[in-house]
Amino acid sequence: MFVSVKFFKFEFLVFFHSTKVNNCLSLNFKNLFFFMKKGTKLYSIMKFRCPVCHEGDFLEGHPYSIKHLGDVRQKCNSCGQPYSKEPGFYFGAMYVAYALGVALFVAVWLFTYLFFPSLSSFWNIFIVALLSLLLAPYFFSLSKIIYANFFFKYKSNKK
Ligand SMILES: [Zn+2]
Repeated sequence: MFVSVKFFKFEFLVFFHSTKVNNCLSLNFKNLFFFMKKGTKLYSIMKFRCPVCHEGDFLEGHPYSIKHLGDVRQKCNSCGQPYSKEPGFYFGAMYVAYALGVALFVAVWLFTYLFFPSLSSFWNIFIVALLSLLLAPYFFSLSKIIYANFFFKYKSNKK
């Protein structure tokens, strides 16, 4: 059977054989993401949803859209929560972006250290630089939604 998996606004169709073993595997896979349920901050962050109602969109467009690169909406289109507390509110998000950059650097370094120990520092730096470039629009938006989640709390039935 085909199972649609939604990841970051892209829908993937994943094919599962309907044997017992694979059913178990897919079930475990589902349980693995229990912390990504609605109401958790991770849900709002990974899906770019309003930090307050987890329904409305946070961004003007896709993180990789040229027109709306990292643009945050004025307010939630579902609960009306304004996304900015003061002018220049999202300047603070650059500290989050910095942390994300460091996390990427450490992750790449650890990965190559464990799996490709003979790789030279040059290639490590090259991979980190390339990934930072490719992920820049995503990290730019991600840092803003993480930053917003520091200041806004989830309210389940705010209408
Ligand atoms: Zn909302």
